[in-house]
Amino acid sequence: MNLEEKALNILLNHAICDYCLGRQFSNLGTGTTNLYRGQTIKTYLAMNLSSSLSEENIQKLQILSQSGSVMAKNILRKENISPDNTQKCYICENYLDRANELVELIIPKLKDYEFRTILVGTSLPKEFHERELKNKENFDTISSEYLKQEFNRIIGKKLANKIALETDFKSPDIVIEVEPLTSSFKLRIKPLYIFGRYLKYLRTIPQTRWPCRNCKGKGCKECSNTGKRYAESVEELVEIEALNHTKGKKVTLHGAGREDIDALMLGSGRPFVMEVIAPKVRSINIKELEESTNKSTKEKIEVREYRWSSKKEIIHLKSSAKDSIKKYRALIEYDKSVSGKELRILEKEFNNRMIKQRTPDRVSHRRADKIREKKIFSIKCEIKNAEEFEAIITCDGGCYVKELISGDNGRTKPSISEILNVQAFCKELDVLEIEDKPFIDE
Ligand SMILES: [Zn+2]
Ligand SMILES: [Zn+2]
Repeated sequence: MNLEEKALNILLNHAICDYCLGRQFSNLGTGTTNLYRGQTIKTYLAMNLSSSLSEENIQKLQILSQSGSVMAKNILRKENISPDNTQKCYICENYLDRANELVELIIPKLKDYEFRTILVGTSLPKEFHERELKNKENFDTISSEYLKQEFNRIIGKKLANKIALETDFKSPDIVIEVEPLTSSFKLRIKPLYIFGRYLKYLRTIPQTRWPCRNCKGKGCKECSNTGKRYAESVEELVEIEALNHTKGKKVTLHGAGREDIDALMLGSGRPFVMEVIAPKVRSINIKELEESTNKSTKEKIEVREYRWSSKKEIIHLKSSAKDSIKKYRALIEYDKSVSGKELRILEKEFNNRMIKQRTPDRVSHRRADKIREKKIFSIKCEIKNAEEFEAIITCDGGCYVKELISGDNGRTKPSISEILNVQAFCKELDVLEIEDKPFIDE
């Protein structure tokens, strides 16, 4: 079948708009649009039919007229025949005509955001695709482009005509999800990822938001209507300035592990990646952000080494946290006095020693109950007074240090309590150092 026969056959079967007819032949010709392809084919067919106005040809001109061919309508009118009305397109139901309307809705919303690249995605009910496939099968138009693609391209082009932007299929700043049937759309803004390290100088703040257990964040009497168990977190403290600079919606902090709320985070800090959700400003000065964050969070936390990061680095941080080596300072209280000699024995016992830890009671509500093997590289002790000594503990990431000290009712073996034959517990804990593995983005 040649182009002419194929096109006429398609139109004889159903009314098809110019866009959709053009798409069936999108492999033919170049430097044009499917809209113009469809128009051209219909015009050509009508011209051809007008050479002999037999009854059969007049019928065919009416078929073209039903598909909206202006040329066919004009020819019929000239013969004093009233042309058939244009019918709804079988494939797209004329929703392609709504592209302009959608673009006019999208532009003012886009103006709120700084971006360079976009990607348009269209969602249509599956019946559209089914009709399209049926048509493709019936008329063997293997090379036809899909309706969704056409929609994406038309809207992308129309937007590009009005504002400077580029299409990026891999990682666009904004994805515009359009729904032609409801003339609505959603903007999905790519988050910003910023790496940093934090130091924590208070024993009262958790790493991330901690919703009130009673109301689950809604706000109740117990939490004085804040919805939170703790007033502040590292996450919320870094968020304030990050939102000031980016005009984003929210910050999510992804830490390389986390310390207990009552543990200080010292040394060179804990690595984290903050994810700024829905930023309106992307081209921020990251050093200025770091400085203003430190000004506003003085004496609570400190941040360092801010730089651009990626989603990939979050995965690296999460997976490498358990492989990093951590150094802690613990202030340990005990119920019987311990001699310096006993502490030397303790140091020897924990020189490169593997321990077994069953998930502690205090975290069992959020962690699977299992036994973890962790290595203690060293413990160095110093007596402070009759009831306390200080220990510098170097161990594997993910080791529960408080339980290493207390023994957690035999759930951690061996423990400092067990070796010293006392009941010891951790009074204060600071993270002194985290040796993390550098992230290499291949
Ligand atoms: Zn159509
Ligand atoms: Zn509450």
